[in-house]
Amino acid sequence: MAHEFDLIRDYFQPLSRVAMDEVGIGDDGAVLNCPPQSQLVVVTDTLVEGVHFPMEALPGDIGWKALAVNLSDLAAMGATPAFFSLALSLPERCNHAAWLNAFAAGLATLAEGYQLPLIGGDTTRSDRLTVTVTAQGWVREGRAVLRQTARPGDKLYVTGTLGDGALGLQAWQNQWDSEAYAVSLAKLNRPEPRVEVGALLGTYASSAIDVSDGLLADVTHLIEASGVGAALDMTAIPLSAAMQQQIDDTPQAWSMPLSGGDDYELCFTLPPERIAAFEQACRPLAIPIRPIGCITAGQTLVLNNRPENLTLHSLGYQHF
Ligand code: ADP
Ligand code: MG
Repeated sequence: MAHEFDLIRDYFQPLSRVAMDEVGIGDDGAVLNCPPQSQLVVVTDTLVEGVHFPMEALPGDIGWKALAVNLSDLAAMGATPAFFSLALSLPERCNHAAWLNAFAAGLATLAEGYQLPLIGGDTTRSDRLTVTVTAQGWVREGRAVLRQTARPGDKLYVTGTLGDGALGLQAWQNQWDSEAYAVSLAKLNRPEPRVEVGALLGTYASSAIDVSDGLLADVTHLIEASGVGAALDMTAIPLSAAMQQQIDDTPQAWSMPLSGGDDYELCFTLPPERIAAFEQACRPLAIPIRPIGCITAGQTLVLNNRPENLTLHSLGYQHF
């Protein structure tokens, strides 16, 4: 095994680009400057092999995804990402230059796109590959976007398309034609966190959550936190072309966009008077956003315009 310090120097130190008067990798802790009138938002997510990604997943994809899922959480808080740290438990089979280079490159590709320095971490040996990223971001004071502040009458929006994470997993497990499912596989392996939309949420949104456990589960979290209900319009749920092909009005097919995991899209609420300004601010980003329903006073989740045989119950939702 490469010595721990050589490994950090060779693969992770190059990702640590902090300002002259800051301290990144190399001391006992990082020292970082905080912008004035800001609050720090901190998120952590762990990926475990065999649980969050298959044993055979490509190292570059694992590196990308470990950071992406954290940037998605920051975006859902309305925060702009600033830096991140990495706790790595590494089995012997990954401890060689090809694996480490590819892993660090996947991480670096996403990090460099947002100019995020890696500021530290920890490296241990383990039988099981486990990657924990902690990411920090900034919001303007008092502007963090929470789950608990949706109000009846707000419109519910999502970014991108839903269900592709689950469809990508099926395509991968069943070795379906990788070109036909390229979009879904890309979403599974290299999800694009909605950082730019997240940065707008503090100005316009009344609440937000990221869709990582499936739309119904995450909307449920949001409405329970807010003490409200929601009515979703099934015909408005955005689906990729590949997903659309799968939809045959059975609960099984609909379970992908409604309760599949790994989408990493944002779901947020907008008070009606802010919708026009938000949509205008979003336009230059070229990230699709779609209204899929509204917040109600009823404290229940309702699916409107649904196929006859599709109920929340048939999707495994007994809660309501
Ligand atoms: P300590 O013994 O104080 O915990 P370490 O030997 O764990 O220090 O780490 C030395 C330096 O390398 C620290 O600055 C730490 O933040 C950094 N570091 C360790 N592992 C990683 C990693 N996987 N990614 C980035 N930085 C790391
Ligand atoms: Mg340490």
